[in-house]
Amino acid sequence: MSTIAYRLPQERLLRTALPGPASEALAARRKSAVAAGVVSSLPVYVADADGGVIVDVDGNSLIDLGSGIAVTSVGASHPAVAAAVADQASRFTHTCFMVGPYEGYIQVAEELAALTPGSHDKRTALFNSGAEAVENAIKVARAATGKSGVVAFDHAYHGRTSLTMALTAKSMPYKATFGPFAPEVYRMPMSYPYRDETRLTGEVAAQRVIAQMEAQIGAEALAAIIIEPIQGEGGFIVPAPGFLPTLADWARRNRVVFIADEVQTGFARTGAWFASEDEGVVPDLITMAKGIAGGLPLAALTGRADLLDAVHPGGLGGTYGGNPVACAAALATLQAMRFHDLPARAREIEAAVLPQLRALAAETTIIGDVRGRGAMLAIEIVRPGTAVPDRERTKAIVAEALARGVALLTCGTYGNVVRLLPPLVIPPELLADGIAVLTDTIRAYSH
Ligand code: PMP
Repeated sequence: MSTIAYRLPQERLLRTALPGPASEALAARRKSAVAAGVVSSLPVYVADADGGVIVDVDGNSLIDLGSGIAVTSVGASHPAVAAAVADQASRFTHTCFMVGPYEGYIQVAEELAALTPGSHDKRTALFNSGAEAVENAIKVARAATGKSGVVAFDHAYHGRTSLTMALTAKSMPYKATFGPFAPEVYRMPMSYPYRDETRLTGEVAAQRVIAQMEAQIGAEALAAIIIEPIQGEGGFIVPAPGFLPTLADWARRNRVVFIADEVQTGFARTGAWFASEDEGVVPDLITMAKGIAGGLPLAALTGRADLLDAVHPGGLGGTYGGNPVACAAALATLQAMRFHDLPARAREIEAAVLPQLRALAAETTIIGDVRGRGAMLAIEIVRPGTAVPDRERTKAIVAEALARGVALLTCGTYGNVVRLLPPLVIPPELLADGIAVLTDTIRAYSH
């Protein structure tokens, strides 16, 4: 990996208890200004961020093990991204690609055609958020097949818009009180090796889904299967080997569009450009966002040319989709990912961290499972010696790690998964410090 120059000291440094007074003051203002439904997992307010640190308004420097939910893989202020944004903003910030098109959009589409799995002819449409890319994937699948059914999985997360809420599995907080939900969405059992009662092989778990799809929907009514190759919000669930390829094969044989939602797993996060590559799966459509543009809002739908081009002219778009500043950020981000060889860096992070987590799991009874790939790793916390999810203990562990200067996120249908999503550019020593704090904390909560 080429050397990365950091702007901020890469250190864990606490100047106040968390949250400090300046964060407290902002929290008080927020209460009377920001909608209560919008919550933040960190109690501190951000003043600066770079590489592997977030500096808050009280001058505390926290180790960032969340990357703003897998977004700032190249860091939150990579100099090449910042320069590309400034340069593009100084020329034009917006024309609307549907009105005045520009080269950056085409360049991003060309990059994505080259980077995504498969050497077939591809097309791309750009959007603003992961949810919007997912919505459009479903629109394309329906338009191209003339069918309407969509299969999503237990524990899935695909977004918070009307259609994507229907695809998302978890009720609280994503769906509760917001129904009715979009029709023609069918939910199937995921392969969840830790919790599958009989530890089904991937192939058997997929055959269970196939039998259910054939019995309950029928391939002739099914437009698409959408799946996260490693589930994100649902708990970093890695399906058993064979699950994804078996489903993808069935989809191909039955004219069902196989959509990989790589919004969270994409762009070097799992040690490859895309998680689908791990088992050689070539999705028909792939949705992307988060890591794509170094923090600027951009999302993409890339896939088979015959599918995307089946949509009538004007059927896809949006005012800001593929905004020129976001496209410039994406091009700089992808270049930085290649320059720093971030897929390799994600594999190095796995090699450094996973054995430590596995060793810790062997010495405590509160870790049910350790899993993940690359720099997308997770620890499932359970009541001692059982498989019963322990959400309260998970919260306590994350709060204690934060009090010591390490910012971590949780996830999981049962809220009991500590997830690690460090920026891929985090200095190895800083990552090691963050993991040491986490493992100490888990030990302290192990009885
Ligand atoms: N799909 C997946 C797999 C995600 O992880 C997310 C975001 N967590 C989304 C879709 C939605 O993306 P956004 O929040 O950008 O709409």
